[in-house]
Order: sequence, then C-alpha cells, then structure tokens
Amino acid sequence: MYHCIAEETVDPWAICVTPQSFDEHMAVLARAAVDLGTFTGDDAYTRGGGRIAVTFDDGYLDNLTAALPTLERHGVPATIFVIGNGVGRTREFWWDALQRALLSGPLPETLAFPFGTGPHTYTLDERPGDDAAIGGWRADFDAAVTSRQKLFRALWDAVVVLDPAEQDDAIDHLLDWAGQPTSTPATRVAVDEAQFAQLAAHPLITVGSHTLDHPSLTDLAPERQAAQIREGRRRMEELAGCPVTRFSYPYGRFDDTARAAVRDIGIEIACTSVPVPAVTGDDRHALPRLQPTEMDGDRFTRWLREDCGLLAGSAG
Ligand SMILES: [Zn+2]
Repeated sequence: MYHCIAEETVDPWAICVTPQSFDEHMAVLARAAVDLGTFTGDDAYTRGGGRIAVTFDDGYLDNLTAALPTLERHGVPATIFVIGNGVGRTREFWWDALQRALLSGPLPETLAFPFGTGPHTYTLDERPGDDAAIGGWRADFDAAVTSRQKLFRALWDAVVVLDPAEQDDAIDHLLDWAGQPTSTPATRVAVDEAQFAQLAAHPLITVGSHTLDHPSLTDLAPERQAAQIREGRRRMEELAGCPVTRFSYPYGRFDDTARAAVRDIGIEIACTSVPVPAVTGDDRHALPRLQPTEMDGDRFTRWLREDCGLLAGSAG
C-alpha cells in the first residue's frame, strides 16, 4: 500500500516514499509482482510469500508522473484506488492540509474551533524543543507527547467525522489560524479527469474505488456507508469507462455492514490497512495490506523478508 511518491519532510502517517526509493522497491519486487486480481484465487497465496501486489490509495498526481514510469521500467502492475470526488479536486485533501497547518510553523496559543461536537476551544502549551520532535514523529505509532502533537491528533479526530463541506470549512479556518496559504502544495495534487483517464487506460494499471468522499465508514449509518460505496464506484466506472471491481476502505476503517455493502455491489476484492500479509482463507472483501515507508532497496528487502515473512526462498 503506497500513497504518494514524493519527497516530504513532515509526513506523520509515513505515506510518502521518494521516487528513488520507490524505484529500488520495484526493482526488488519485479519478479514477485502480480496483479492484485490474482488474490481472488487461492493459488496466489504461496507459503513463502512469493507473490506481491502493489496498490496505491487516494489518487495523487504523482502516481502518474512519478510512479508509473517506474512501474513501466520494472514491469510491475498496480491497482490505484481513487476517491470519486477527488478526481479534479483543486483543494488539498483535508488530512494533508491539516498536517501542513499544524506541523509546519509557529502557531498562536489558542484556537477557536467552531466545528463538530467536540471541544470548541484548544490551548497550545509549547515547550522549548517541542518543534524538534515534529519532523520524525509518526502519528500512527508514536504517542502524542507534545502539546502540538496532541492538538494534531485531537483535530484529526474532530475533522475526520465532519461532512465534506464542513471539512473544507474547518480546514480553511485552521490554515487561516496557522497563517498558512490555502494553495495546494505541488506534492499533494490529485489527478484530474484527463490524468485519471491516462492511468485507467494504461495496461499496467487497474483503477479501483476508494468511496466517493473518503469518509470514515465506521462513523456512518449503514445507508450512508452504502451510498458512499455505491456512488464512489459509479463515479470510477463513469470516468474509466469500464467495470470497476476493486475497492479499498478509507483510513482502513471497515465493519460488517461496510463489508457487506462492498460485496453486494459486486466488488471482487477489497483491501483494508491491517498490516499483515494476506494468507489463504482471508476474506476477499477485507484483505490486509502492508505499507512500505521511506527506505532504500536493501532495507525494503530486509523488511519484506524479516519483518513480513515474504519473499522466502526467492533468490533475489
Ligand atoms: Zn485513502
């Protein structure tokens, strides 16, 4: 599971891999790489973990400009799960804007946040040296220690459950508060319709759906889950001009009703973000995925073999 292929200094979810490292990863995977569709059949699951499928989430432009040439060079197929309303979106995705607002420069001490049902006022209590902890901080693994890290987590939890229009308002408010520009950085641009079409038409690429608006499905009532799943897929099919039968859960969040909704519209394979290798007997509508982070080819090989138990017995 990749997201962005780009250089990035602040990356609390570790979703960026540099073009150089991505090239080294694909060189390692070249002989093991299979299309994700292979995993609809039992024979994809080898005891030694010799078959690996590459996926991307969200639909960033760098998937076309940076990742695709590398995939071509190594002959590696990939599935790209795209957010329906993300195609042609000129605004930054909210999670990217939030980290830019909170984890970049100095911040005012108090924040009024008139959105959602949580606290509407926050106070920052920054200590000397807190800034130094920002660069390498991992929001998904490390505890939130500094006042700013705690605020980042609290606001992330508050914004993720807002409706899309409210998310945009909340982000405008936060960027303004932080004194950050509202323009989308070049490394965080989503594909437009023409760029999406280029990806969808490419023989190495299969597009999948990632819902219409990237909601937290587990926070939605079943009928709203179903609508996001159905309409996201409809939008993908309209843009791609062909059936779309693959899906990934935004933020990796899913429950029984979301899984049933995905299955009921004829999705053949759906991916979560549960960080373990897929094995025989796994539910095809909740396949786990591993997320490679920024690391060179040698470390990537060690990570696959030693940490993930993959590529066993493969010569290279
Ligand atoms: Zn996503």
